[in-house]
Amino acid sequence: MKLILLGPPGAGKGTQAERLVKNHGLIQLSTGDMLRAAVAAKTEVGLMAKDIMERGDLVSDDIICSIISDRIEEPDCKNGFILDGFPRTVTQAEALDKMLLEKSMELDAVIEIKVDEAILLERIEKRAAETGGARADDNSQTLKKRLEVYREQTAPVSDYYRKAGALNEVDGMKPIDEVSQLIESTLN
Ligand code: ADP
Repeated sequence: MKLILLGPPGAGKGTQAERLVKNHGLIQLSTGDMLRAAVAAKTEVGLMAKDIMERGDLVSDDIICSIISDRIEEPDCKNGFILDGFPRTVTQAEALDKMLLEKSMELDAVIEIKVDEAILLERIEKRAAETGGARADDNSQTLKKRLEVYREQTAPVSDYYRKAGALNEVDGMKPIDEVSQLIESTLN
């Protein structure tokens, strides 16, 4: 199974992805995690991405697309994967369509976790406080910037898949277990 999880920062993508991994034996491909690993390892990509991420901006489409293109060909992706944090722009969505076609792969579902923005701000500020800034980009100023970037660049990705008739929307304001059930029912 090949899935895309869409939703703004703090929507619960990570939590739901973890459950999908457990229940379906999928691999979670989080571009955010991959970039953080690259930053920590001070690779070329990491050095380039560090400041961009700390500002809450997006890393270039070309770099992200080439990382994903290589990653989904790894043997551990054979049983399927969840894309979490990608595609984040319409350009990335178009590039993904192209690479899947070239690799003779097909998406099974695109799932958007919908949340209320005001409540979202509360949630992500709480997360920033709880993790004590464990992530360099988890402070309220950057979080607000990330929400803004989401609205401008990533929300159109939902429209892209909606137009293609591929978008499944689930209510992310429901309790975690219910959100999981809603996601499971879109998969059946
Ligand atoms: P979130 O907590 O908002 O889900 P992520 O962990 O997915 O954030 O990503 C953290 C940061 O990594 C983003 O703010 C961005 O700078 C960078 N990033 C992650 N995925 C992408 C992508 N697909 N395209 C461009 N930049 C990305």
